[in-house]
Amino acid sequence: MSSIDLRTVILMSSVMPGLMSIVLFSLSRSFPSSIKGIRYWAAAAAFIAVTAVLLALRGAVADGVSVVVANTSLLIGIGLSLIGTELFFEREPSWSLVIVAILFGGASVSWMLWVHPNYFGRVSCMTALLTVFYAAHTRLLLFWGSRNYNTLFLGAMFLILSVSTAIRFISSMSPGDAAPDLFAHDPFQLTYLAVNNFMSLLVTVGFVMVATNRLHAQLERQSATDPLTGLLNRRAFGILHAKTQERARRLGQPLTMLIVDLDHFKTINDRFGHDTGDRVLVDFAERVTAVLGPNDHLARFGGEEFAILLADANAQEAFGRASAIRQLVQLRVDRDLPIYTCSIGVACLDATDASLARLSSVADRALYRAKSNGRNRVELTDEALAAG
Ligand code: GH3
Ligand code: MG
Ligand code: MG
Repeated sequence: MSSIDLRTVILMSSVMPGLMSIVLFSLSRSFPSSIKGIRYWAAAAAFIAVTAVLLALRGAVADGVSVVVANTSLLIGIGLSLIGTELFFEREPSWSLVIVAILFGGASVSWMLWVHPNYFGRVSCMTALLTVFYAAHTRLLLFWGSRNYNTLFLGAMFLILSVSTAIRFISSMSPGDAAPDLFAHDPFQLTYLAVNNFMSLLVTVGFVMVATNRLHAQLERQSATDPLTGLLNRRAFGILHAKTQERARRLGQPLTMLIVDLDHFKTINDRFGHDTGDRVLVDFAERVTAVLGPNDHLARFGGEEFAILLADANAQEAFGRASAIRQLVQLRVDRDLPIYTCSIGVACLDATDASLARLSSVADRALYRAKSNGRNRVELTDEALAAG
């Protein structure tokens, strides 16, 4: 044990958070602004790197720097990472807790350095405050974080930090004959420093994993949805269609698709403006979504054209449901929007025949008929009836 040079270990342990800080800063620049908190983690890592350098210089620089500044910088770093995680999960940041802890910690450590020198008193004060931060972090991740592997992993890391820091707090309350020195070969001190150095790196990597996971989920959602209405886009509809077709084939049920096109939409844009046109599209999406079942899927195919996949409906039922949608759409709910109507083409095919291309072309022909028969209508073609 005695061959371990703690000063070198502490100095080396500043390298990792220093590098992580650079990595986090560059990540924060490339991540979308909707993912918050990364910059705080980057700043936290920088403060922790500074802390390690200052602690390693204990004895070589003034105590004011290696004790007071170092401990305050550690509290700032750990506090900022908590703020970062809170912002990331869109929770109210605990600024008052963090600021009070930093001020109280800085003042107490100064008091126990200059007025009533007490090494173990300083360790107790610091480990108590750090335990509060780690415990708050653990609680946030385990109880408020999204329930996925990465978040739970990070929560577990903070739990280990909370426990190891709490143990160090308890041991510092009854130090026995341990030497009052940062570099003392006290087993509690050694274990605590080793665990903390290792864990501070692990939690930073853990946070990067959690943030990357969020980015991944966000990109996946974006690639599946239409930004104006929030509905599925054509691509996502295609994936759902494949699943639904497979299920219908297994159950021997027909597959139904409606193509809905708003009537004279160009006129709405021309008369009321493009913004009102957009609001009509959103209004349509909201009202139709509200009447669909959990196994039905509504997508925006483009412009003012939408597609609906209906689960468990034969041709007659599909016609009935399409008529209900048509009647719902023509009701004026929002007084700020003009009255508008839609035409619907229905395709209902045997599941084995119901590829997306075939369903779309049958429903399109029916839609064309609805338009040419005067609009604000629902039409089924003969072939659409085949499976009914
Ligand atoms: P029809 O009854 O035959 O369907 O006539 P229509 O005017 O609805 O059809 P047309 O295809 O002539 O015009 C569709 C219009 O929809 C033209 C286009 O400018 C408008 N449009 C497409 N996408 C959007 C959008 O995202 N927002 C708005 N406001 N308008 C859009
Ligand atoms: Mg139209
Ligand atoms: Mg159209």
